[in-house]
Amino acid sequence: MDELREKVKAFVRARDWEKYHSPKNVAMSLSVEAGELMEIFLWKTDGESRALDEKELQRVKEEVGDVMINLVNLCNKFGIDPVECGLRKLEKVEEKYPVAKAKGSARKYDEI
Ligand SMILES: [Mg+2]
Repeated sequence: MDELREKVKAFVRARDWEKYHSPKNVAMSLSVEAGELMEIFLWKTDGESRALDEKELQRVKEEVGDVMINLVNLCNKFGIDPVECGLRKLEKVEEKYPVAKAKGSARKYDEI
């Protein structure tokens, strides 16, 4: 992750793109790339979405890469570590959804 963070920083700096990469714009770009990831699955059944062919899987990899780059770029703007954010959030989600109550249930935390 540190390597990706540094490479994204260097990529943006080398192109003098910081002036275009406001947090607002980068957050919007992140959402656009997440949309491109979702588009791969659009109109597929649940089963089809679990059985992608090689070409579709390659597209998923490309879009996951775009999402990661934009997420890391956004985090770089604020000097925050996305992995740390994910780990802290997972701890909170684990509290909201204790295994004993949530296992096998898709209900929201305030309904379990
Ligand atoms: Mg893309």
